[in-house]
Amino acid sequence: MKLKIYSTLTKQKEEFKSIDENKVRMYSCGPTVYYFAHIGNLRAYLFMDNLRRVLKYNGYSLKHVMNITDVGHLVSDADEGEDKMMKAARLEHKDPFEIAKFYTEAFLSDMKKLNIDMPEIISKATEHIKCMEEYVQQIIANGYTYETEDTIYFDTSKLDKYGVLSNKNIDEKNTEARINIDPNKKNQNDFALWIKAPENHLMKWDTFWGKCYPGWHLECSAMGHKYLGEEFDIHTGGVDHIPIHHENEIAQAKGFCGKIPAHYWMHVEFLQVDSKKMSKSLRNLYTLDDLKEKGFEPYVYKMFNFSSHYRNKINFTFKAMEAAKTSLSRLREGYLKHLDGTETINEETINDYKERFLEAINDDLNMPVAMSVVWDVVKNPNKSKQLAELILEFDKVLGFDLKNYKPENIEIPEEILELVEERKKARENKNWEKSDELRDLIQEKGYIIKDTKEGAEIKKK
Ligand code: AMP
Ligand code: ZN
Repeated sequence: MKLKIYSTLTKQKEEFKSIDENKVRMYSCGPTVYYFAHIGNLRAYLFMDNLRRVLKYNGYSLKHVMNITDVGHLVSDADEGEDKMMKAARLEHKDPFEIAKFYTEAFLSDMKKLNIDMPEIISKATEHIKCMEEYVQQIIANGYTYETEDTIYFDTSKLDKYGVLSNKNIDEKNTEARINIDPNKKNQNDFALWIKAPENHLMKWDTFWGKCYPGWHLECSAMGHKYLGEEFDIHTGGVDHIPIHHENEIAQAKGFCGKIPAHYWMHVEFLQVDSKKMSKSLRNLYTLDDLKEKGFEPYVYKMFNFSSHYRNKINFTFKAMEAAKTSLSRLREGYLKHLDGTETINEETINDYKERFLEAINDDLNMPVAMSVVWDVVKNPNKSKQLAELILEFDKVLGFDLKNYKPENIEIPEEILELVEERKKARENKNWEKSDELRDLIQEKGYIIKDTKEGAEIKKK
């Protein structure tokens, strides 16, 4: 079955065709590590995870790069204001490199908690300054730049078209508010590639133009090129990247080698609160730890995201999180129920479930529909190990790590525990008849006992 994905470049669902057979080269814009990731940011990485898993499910191997922006992302995406890292360092009275290290680790730990399938390459901007320097020098040599006293700008008027993703005209204003615009900029959409560091700037490097630091947009172009080449398959990010950051990445790549770097551009919509984007500036954010405090484990947030297509906005409410929590329990219980089943399901039914699931995920990652197939399997009245196996197969895309799920804290009554202990003794004495009688008795009382290498496991029927 063919995989179809929506590309912002062509504004339509397209059949996915990789450049290399069975291998996908992909780039995802990573976090700016100046604060904890909020769950809005995490929606972008859950989408990335989902895409990786769907590609793998379709048999592709992956070479996927995600950057860590630890320098150069200014408060406004359109090159205005202070560097976010420097601002955080000033407010927290810390060294910006220390800030970057702390929040990078926090981000990676969040990824782990959500069981996000991690990109093969995670590249920190500060470890790729040389590669960015070479990239910018090539753009300069190709005649796409001009200098002001302290900045090397990309000259967007040199392109046949700027704005291929958002279809804006060269003179059109960026969507962000333009305050303190540099009067030396030639065109509204020109952007900084290479910036001279002021005396007090802590993140700076010795380069061909003196002590400088790179622009944020340049990081992704240079690192993408280093690991994935001039052309690769997919580029992902949040919808906020469409009008500026990704337009600028495309402009840079055209200036560098004349090509649009990725064939497909995929963008995930916002997580909102009260119809507003969840963001640090609006102070309406939650982190995974905030959710934990309110009794929601990270997988509940993952389940919540599956209730909406990635190209739709989703509104965060605790009521919806409660529903997702119930869904997660239903999924786990359904899996365990089938795992203990003994009935046989015919192949046709299994294949029908498989086909419907594949059709949904291959229709531009339609997870709400894919989940409806999962629920059909869970609710199948015939308890069968084949269905448990099928749920595990689907979990390759869902990523709830069901295989290792162990029910915690189920209250086993004292009476049952005593019977279990008695059965253990009977088995030690090789009294198999008594052991079987006790197992039946435990079952009659509503509990299932399973013998494993680590000892007996007891579950509610
Ligand atoms: P940043 O750390 O600000 O560079 O953002 C990291 C990623 O989170 C980017 O891909 C953004 O597009 C994405 N993002 C930021 N806010 C939201 C939100 N409320 N919902 C979904 N994605 C978001
Ligand atoms: Zn980027």
